[in-house]
Order: sequence, then structure tokens, then C-alpha cells
Amino acid sequence: MSEARVAVIGAGFSGLLLSIALARLGFEVDVYEEHTGPGVPPHCTGIISRNTLSLIEYIAGPLPGSLIAQKFDGVTICSQGYCRAFKVLGGLIRLDRPGLDRHLASIAARLDVRIHLKTKVTSVAPDGKLKASNSVKAYDYVIIAEGARPRLRVELGVGCLEEPAYGVNYITTLNPCRLGRYEPRTTPLVAFERLESPGYLWAFRDDSHCIVGIASHSTRDIRRLLNTLRGSLKGAYGGPIYIGHTVRPRLRRGRVTVFGDAACLNKPLSGGGLYPQALAVKRLLDSARNRSLARALTDSVRSVHRTLEASAHLSRLALRRPKLVKCILESIKDRLGPIEYDNYRRTASQVLSFTRKASLFSCDTIGSVMGVIALLRGALESTLNPSLVSHFIRPRG
Ligand SMILES: Cc1cc2nc3c(=O)[nH]c(=O)nc-3n(C[C@H](O)[C@H](O)[C@H](O)COP(=O)(O)OP(=O)(O)OC[C@H]3O[C@@H](n4cnc5c(N)ncnc54)[C@H](O)[C@@H]3O)c2cc1C
Repeated sequence: MSEARVAVIGAGFSGLLLSIALARLGFEVDVYEEHTGPGVPPHCTGIISRNTLSLIEYIAGPLPGSLIAQKFDGVTICSQGYCRAFKVLGGLIRLDRPGLDRHLASIAARLDVRIHLKTKVTSVAPDGKLKASNSVKAYDYVIIAEGARPRLRVELGVGCLEEPAYGVNYITTLNPCRLGRYEPRTTPLVAFERLESPGYLWAFRDDSHCIVGIASHSTRDIRRLLNTLRGSLKGAYGGPIYIGHTVRPRLRRGRVTVFGDAACLNKPLSGGGLYPQALAVKRLLDSARNRSLARALTDSVRSVHRTLEASAHLSRLALRRPKLVKCILESIKDRLGPIEYDNYRRTASQVLSFTRKASLFSCDTIGSVMGVIALLRGALESTLNPSLVSHFIRPRG
């Protein structure tokens, strides 16, 4: 159905990437953004795999080199005082996130996408009518890409409706660069610790700063980290983020569909959204011709949800039980090669095939049993017919 009119609410990463794909498919696209420009205020660290970079470039064309702020060959994972460095397949990149959003907006504009800045959408109806700047407009399709904080989607009962956690990056002086007892060196460091609410911490260096971050549902966790940084703090940025969430929400009501963070397109452990969102847009681009947009979009999002679901239980367990993470790190045999960064189910099976199971079980027996159950549940839910699963396990409207 090309030349149909589509409204995308939100000029964040997901709304912009999707609008580029829609313009390429021949749709007439209006993007509504309440802020003064794309990418403001910044909230994302911007660390992605090379694989995710390729997905973004498949949709938006080659990115200028200036958008790549840093390259890393791996990641260091720590828990309860124990750290282990891993190489990552293809390596990692840190993008200039506000710059990326501005770049995507310029590509979209070149494809005749109209981006309405400083225009807040105040209501959306299932029949495709939306209200923005006190005028009502009608669209064939409306896509809510409003980010992690549930607002417009609440009334429609679509998308991720769970309360997100809060993620914050503290910019601190380079020397000393410390996250509690850990010190990041050449790779980003991710730490699983006992927090008030399930969450995790991270730290990395760039040329001039040390960035220390946390994602948690508890403001006390966030304040506690802040208190350790007094004297070295230079600034901070952050926003709501989905971690440890349930994937597969209801995606569509009438002519309205959700996308991006709003559709729970986030990796369940880290909350990283760029990989699942870019993957869903690619799948849409590859499959949408001659199909209803709403159907093609929900199908592509569901297929990515199935991949995420496979690791969701395991991710929640890792966030809640840092002891298990420590036991896994300690039980890994040395010859583990580069790990997969985006698909946690694959990462988990890679890591587990290199762990000494007996020492893992004796280190955290309860956690290991819970891990086996989490793996089995993930495998079952991601392979069974989703409508059958939702019928028996999680009824949805
Ligand atoms: C601290 C932190 C660190 C992160 N680090 C990473 C990382 O390293 N790697 C990674 O892959 N992901 C990371 N993420 C997640 C990533 O930022 C998101 O998945 C990504 O930005 C998805 O964006 P989105 O377009 O769905 O939402 P957003 O980027 O939040 O964009 C939504 C847009 O919609 C606009 N909007 C909302 N409501 C309205 C309305 N009613 N009318 C008009 N406009 C509206 C908002 O102003 C906003 O611009 C991080 C997130 C946080 C908070």
C-alpha cells in the first residue's frame, strides 16, 4: 500500500530509522517530535556491535566516519569483585548518538519525510486521527515511537506498559577512572552487583573523560553511585530504559502500531535498543512490499521479540542474582573465543559450553537450577507458536 499517509510519533533513533525505510517503500511520512531537534536531550551511551552498524547502514546507507566516536575489541564483565575480559565478534563501536539522530533526520528529509519539530502529539485514536498543535490530522497508519516512558500508548493499551528503569551516564574526570572497586581499561566494563532493585553498572574511558553508568529501578541505587563520584563529576545524561522486562506486548490497535522502545524492542539484559530496532526495520524493509504496513510491521517486530524472548528469563536471572554471574565467570575455561554481543541466547550457549558445569553447580546450586529452567522456558516460548503460548501462558487483549 504505497503512497498511504503515515505518521510517526517521535524523532528518536527508532522513529527516524523506520521513517527512512517507509519513505524507501513509497509511503508519505510525517514525523512529529516535541523537542527542538532530533537527538535532544541525549540519553544513550551509543555502544553497539559491528553487526548492528551493518544493519543501520543497510537501511540508511554508509554512516560518516565522524559518527564513530570509539572502537573497542571486547567487553569486561565483572561481578562481586571478579572480572573477566571477553573479545566480541566483530568488535564494538561507540556512536556519537545525538550526531547519529541528526544524520538519520537529514537522510529522512532527503527522502521527503516531513519532520515537524517542537510539535507534541497530545492524543491518538485507533482510527488514525491524531491531535498535534491543536489541529487534528487523519492518517492511514500511525506509529507510536515515543520512547521508553509510556504516555500515548497507555490509553490505547498497546506497547510496553511496564514502568521502565532509569539509566544514567555520569561524566567524570579521567583520573582516577573507577567504578567502585573496578577500573575500566581499554574495553567497556559491565558490572553485576547486589543492588536494591535488579540492575547493572558500567564504565568506560574516552580520550578526555571517564563515563560511569547505572540502570536500575531504584533511585537509591542511582543516588548511591552518585555519592561515590563526588568531586570528580563533570555532567550527566540519561533517561528511562527497559531492562529485565517482559517482551511481546500487544503491538497494534486499529490503525495504530507501536515501535522502538515503546514496543519493548530492547535487549532484556542491557536495555540496548539499537540492535533489535534496526533488525526489525531491516526485516520490514525486506518483507513489506505488497503487504499491509500494519501487518508487515507487527510481523517484523514479533519475529525480533521471539529472539529476545529466548533470553528474557535468563537476563532477569542475571540481573537479580549477581552471584550466578560471578560463578559463571569463574567457571569459564580459558579457551572461549570471541562472544556474540547481540543475541544473548547464542552468547549464553557459547559461554555455557565453555564452563565447567560441576564447578558452576557447586558454586551456586540454586542459581544454576534456576538458570536451567530459564533457558528451557526461553527456548520453549521462542519456538512455540506465539499465539498458542499467549493463549495458555499470558492472555492478552
Ligand atoms: C542511559 C542509557 C544508555 C543507553 N545505552 C544504549 C547503548 O549503549 N546501546 C543501545 O543500543 N541502546 C542504548 N540505550 C537504549 C536506546 O537509547 C534506545 O533504545 C533508543 O534510543 C530507542 O529510541 P526510540 O526512538 O524508541 O526512543 P527515544 O530515543 O526515546 O525517542 C523518542 C522520541 O519521541 C519523542 N516524543 C515522545 N512523545 C512524543 C509526543 N507525544 N509528541 C512528539 N514527540 C514525542 C521524544 O521527544 C523522543 O525524541 C540506552 C538508553 C539509556 C537511557
